Amino acid sequence: MYQRVSRLDDPKYMLKVEYGGMNDALYHLFSITKDERHLTAATYFDEVELFKDLAAAKDVLPGKHANTTIPKLLGAIRRYEIFDDPQMAGQYLYEKDQKQLPIYLKAAENFWRIVINHHTYATGGNSQSEHFHDPNQLYHDAVIEDGATTCETCNTHNMLKLSRELFRVTGDKKYLDYYDRTYSNAILGSQNPKTGMMTYFQPMAAGYRKVFNRPYDEFWCCTGTGIESFTKLGDSYYFKEGQTLYATGYFSNQLSLPKENLKLDMQVDRKVGAVKLTVSKLIDNKTSEPLNVKFRHPDWSHGRLSVKKNQKTQPNNETFGFVEVKKLVPGDVIEINLSMTLTVGSTPDNQQYISLKYGPYVLAGKLDRYQMDSDRPNGILVRISTLNQTATSTLTAHMDWPSWQKKAHADYQLQTENERYLVKVGLPGVDEKIEFVPYYQVYDQRYGVYFQWQQAGSLAAKQRQEKLAAIEAYQNRIVDQLTNFDQNNWEFNKHLQAKNSEVGNAYGRRFRQAGVTGYFSYRFDIKKAQPKMHMILIFNKSDDGKLLATHIGNDPDNQFQSQIVVDSSNAKSVDKDGFFELEIELPKDIYLDQPSLKICFSGLQDTSARLFGIQFLNA
Ligand SMILES: [Zn+2]
Repeated sequence: MYQRVSRLDDPKYMLKVEYGGMNDALYHLFSITKDERHLTAATYFDEVELFKDLAAAKDVLPGKHANTTIPKLLGAIRRYEIFDDPQMAGQYLYEKDQKQLPIYLKAAENFWRIVINHHTYATGGNSQSEHFHDPNQLYHDAVIEDGATTCETCNTHNMLKLSRELFRVTGDKKYLDYYDRTYSNAILGSQNPKTGMMTYFQPMAAGYRKVFNRPYDEFWCCTGTGIESFTKLGDSYYFKEGQTLYATGYFSNQLSLPKENLKLDMQVDRKVGAVKLTVSKLIDNKTSEPLNVKFRHPDWSHGRLSVKKNQKTQPNNETFGFVEVKKLVPGDVIEINLSMTLTVGSTPDNQQYISLKYGPYVLAGKLDRYQMDSDRPNGILVRISTLNQTATSTLTAHMDWPSWQKKAHADYQLQTENERYLVKVGLPGVDEKIEFVPYYQVYDQRYGVYFQWQQAGSLAAKQRQEKLAAIEAYQNRIVDQLTNFDQNNWEFNKHLQAKNSEVGNAYGRRFRQAGVTGYFSYRFDIKKAQPKMHMILIFNKSDDGKLLATHIGNDPDNQFQSQIVVDSSNAKSVDKDGFFELEIELPKDIYLDQPSLKICFSGLQDTSARLFGIQFLNA
């Protein structure tokens, strides 16, 4: 690494690629080897100009690739930590570099603060389509932009690493609160418990589903970091400094402390937030040393933390978010009540675009199971969720916003006796009957993390209702359709037959085309057909001038044939990616009273135009 990069005319040339945590890894190596070549190689991957901007509290994130940027700050902290030792700094750094050292920590602290306060959803996830966008526009990114691509899972993996390091260096509890929030939601929610496969993006808006990678032919970046996250199930529950132990993660666990000859057994009832810590000897016939334990008061647990030692209530000595219990010895039992409750959060750009949390758990509203095997391509080999446009996405209340917020907090219904879900929560005072369950436990249905709150009868509610009615009316006109050319279930369900034909991706959609003298055909279910049925074919402008020949009809002697030359200039409208519809009215004698209809495509003596969608629509 050192030899290759040092030979470049400008070593900073390396910073143009997705180099992620190279500085972190190389500083780590240097801290072990003390080899100056490793140190020099690490500095090649420090983006000092970025660190300076961040240290000056500038939000320079819009447009940046999120998961490339986060690990750069991990490297910055590592450098700070190594040279925070005056002896190390004196031996390896020039004086000007020693003076610049605080910038590295400040950059990481400010980066973390900017990401959390201005770019992060309730689950702890950030980014849309892998990038940071303008600050405080989370509603916009999830609803107006493509909501299928919010919250890349890698980003949360790296934000956990960053938060852990920032806590170790600064001791500030806020980093652990974020760790808890993100671990309990984005990370636990990233795995399909039936198959073990991982998510890439995690949609936040209502109507999407979680898409997990396939086991044999898909291995995404998020598959790798996702698996790594689950190797940390026993990590970051405790931190130790001298004789003080920081108890920070509230999942049932056991901890052995050989030096003190102590064993801690923590049992946590995560449904209600009851914690019981029992102290015993690790080895029976050996003396034990007493231990001070500082318990984290999580940000989701409101009010004073109730702590009992051997059934006696402890005085409230909370400082910097930790309650300390001193001199624990074998036989001691500590009980803590974390008091869980329902809280309502929203995005900065839409105060009534809300998410719900019970204790640390972000709740997802369970929706429908509409087209659970459908997905769309995104970049190379990554599949993303389709949207059910008619899924419930609102919460409609017959009272004003402040009254409803109070009611939700006071009157929610909690159900803890359930096999499948940790808890189920019912929301009071809304028309929509939606069951809310922990987001991390949802994997086999469409859901919503965020919903649009609205007051019944308001202008906005009426407009949303009209829009939904128009979508539903359109969907009722659809006789049959094919929107996903997957060489798999979608096409096989339409009885695909093909010779010398292939599928591919372009502009975010899949297509099929026929090669020279090749063809492809389908059989559609047209039982719903009425007189004046149209066929709609979807093309892209970049195929203008190309030909697609069609033969439609079940009777070889009575077919509707046409040779379509793609021409976007005649289209009613062309979307921003160049897609447009061609509408063809079919002669009714080929389809009326038929259960199904065969349609065949070819390019005759040339490669055909690419076909991105087929739809049969009643007038
Ligand atoms: Zn990833």
